[in-house]
Amino acid sequence: MKLTDKTVIITGGANGIGEAAVRLFMEAEANVVIADFNEEAGLRLLNELGPSAAERAIFVKSNVAEPKSAQQLMEQTMERFGAIDVLINNAGITRDAMLMKMSPEQWQDVIDVNLNGVFYCTRYGAPYMAAQGHGKIINTSSIVGVQGNIGQTNYAATKAGVIGMTKTWARELGYKGICVNAVAPGFIATEMVAKMPEKIVDGMRDKVPLRRLGRPEDVAQAYLFLASDAANYINGAVIEVNGGLSI
Ligand code: NAD
Repeated sequence: MKLTDKTVIITGGANGIGEAAVRLFMEAEANVVIADFNEEAGLRLLNELGPSAAERAIFVKSNVAEPKSAQQLMEQTMERFGAIDVLINNAGITRDAMLMKMSPEQWQDVIDVNLNGVFYCTRYGAPYMAAQGHGKIINTSSIVGVQGNIGQTNYAATKAGVIGMTKTWARELGYKGICVNAVAPGFIATEMVAKMPEKIVDGMRDKVPLRRLGRPEDVAQAYLFLASDAANYINGAVIEVNGGLSI
């Protein structure tokens, strides 16, 4: 699947699923904007991409939780590549705690990145897509947004919210040629899951019909499909990538 000359912004692109997506979209010949607040990891990845990166990839230090930063990300992408064909709202964090121990700060941090961040990037990216007359917005939800998860009140609220925003924007922006979809991963072997207690992760793995955690590449492939012309009539969908965990 090629995306030659298409410009793709990947938030949270420096690590985990976002990093796998950066590598996959580079292979697909896209122009790639790695947007992340972890400058060290972002620049390291850019360097690892090799000579092709000089022409087709940039790192933009961004905090999606800040409206100004989200706006600047879109402006810098337009300045460098002249278009925003695909926006992948992938940046996300966890601050887990049981309800009765969750602090207002833990609640707010997750809302700021996972919910507000998706809103700000889309708010400032969609007008460029509308002006072009086409675009693909891909949001990252989670199985937790559908089923809930013990210790993740804040995270579940944001990931359910992402589904609501996805469906609303699919309705609002469709007539402008913009498709808006979400990917809802199950449990994927990244830093985010590495932070969970081993016993819980083992329990999760046993419940997956495929008997393994997802790999970052498994989710990146779903992003690529939704970004490609093969998905031009898919709008408002939530694609589950969870090895059958939700059956
Ligand atoms: P990760 O922790 O490996 O990577 C997240 C990246 O986002 C990091 O590079 C981090 O620096 C960046 N980031 C965090 N806050 C940011 C901000 N405010 N602005 C810009 N960048 C920021 O996480 P991951 O597992 O790769 O998760 C990627 C997405 O997939 C998240 O939205 C997550 O909620 C979702 N997801 C992950 C899993 C899983 O099991 N790993 C499951 C379902 C959904």
